[in-house]
Amino acid sequence: MKHPQNTPSKASFSTMPLYLSAPAAVALVRRKGLKNCISGIAEHIRADFLRWPDFDKTARVAHHSPHGVIELMPISDGTTYSFKYVNGHPQNTVIGLSTVMAFGVLADVATGAPTLLSELTLTTALRTATTSALAAQTLARPGSRVMALIGNGAQSEFQAIAFQHLLGIDTLRLFDIDPQATAKLVANLSGSGLTLQVCASTAQAVQGADIVTTVTADKACATIVTADMLAPGMHINAVGGDCPGKTELDADVLQAAKVFVEFTPQTRIEGDIQQMSADFAVTELWEVLHGSRTGRDSDAQITVFDSVGFALEDFSALRFMHTEALAWGLGERLNLIPQMANPKNLFGTLLDSPLQAVPLHRQPRLVATA
Ligand code: NAD
Repeated sequence: MKHPQNTPSKASFSTMPLYLSAPAAVALVRRKGLKNCISGIAEHIRADFLRWPDFDKTARVAHHSPHGVIELMPISDGTTYSFKYVNGHPQNTVIGLSTVMAFGVLADVATGAPTLLSELTLTTALRTATTSALAAQTLARPGSRVMALIGNGAQSEFQAIAFQHLLGIDTLRLFDIDPQATAKLVANLSGSGLTLQVCASTAQAVQGADIVTTVTADKACATIVTADMLAPGMHINAVGGDCPGKTELDADVLQAAKVFVEFTPQTRIEGDIQQMSADFAVTELWEVLHGSRTGRDSDAQITVFDSVGFALEDFSALRFMHTEALAWGLGERLNLIPQMANPKNLFGTLLDSPLQAVPLHRQPRLVATA
């Protein structure tokens, strides 16, 4: 009789997902180049937005607490499934933790086997900035060159580089309530070719800007941009208002603008439009990319991209990172799922030797009955 074996075989190799750690993701971005990654993720996000109806979409599942939120973000196109785990805790930096931390999974829908387990903290910053710039490519006035960047924390440099690379932004007007955050950004981007102008307030930073990016972290109904700061034709890329009770734009800004969102059911709960009535008019970004609805209607119109982050962007970014990791030989196979020649023999994995039959001392005793 052949004993059950549990040693990995070629057939079971596919159940060992690739593991892309945070250092491996850093190595990938450094080798591929940041701008190439932004371009690659942009192509993936655009292509996936263009096949929007293919996706099984749902608003993310959120667990709220007084200081933050933990969210699960699932999506599938029927062939590939992904989810992201992500938090948002604006006070974390005080104790040395990131405001946003994330990881995620790709899986094969046909079998349910995970194919990738990846860090998503760095990748979230990349995909968020890329989505913002993709939206601005369609919504901002052509020829936009000056961007105000309000909030100079972890996401901010990625926003700056994505807008420089995909839109041709050449000047940043910076403000953060924490001057050290702005100093960090200036140091990080000193060799970027961007002209960096440090400002004393949001109102000052917004003056003369074609695009205003707000990427602040505060679990509060903040009004960082107010209607008196608006100039005709401005595009506002509102990234930090992404949770119930967490906004960045005054309601009057939204009233004055044409507003674009990712996935309406999620944004009505989480975005800056949470302050507006349930029938407040919005246009989904995919419709503009697809050409089924118009984006900006005139040079003077104010446009707002009320970004909250949607699972589709993580799906696209995860697929990009997976392909690139394989191409660059980065990451390692993770023994996450038991490897079994006989998948019905899960119990066999607990035995001393996979080649042994059930040891005698563990065999059930046969008790004679009268
Ligand atoms: P971070 O904590 O690293 O940086 C946030 C910065 O905002 C800090 O430097 C802080 O001093 C500054 N700030 C807070 N209140 C401000 C104010 N009133 N005016 C000016 N600056 C202010 O956080 P991060 O990782 O950069 O994330 C920024 C925001 O973006 C968070 O709210 C996060 O939830 C959000 N986010 C959104 C998406 C999305 O897809 N929409 C994705 C990632 C992060």
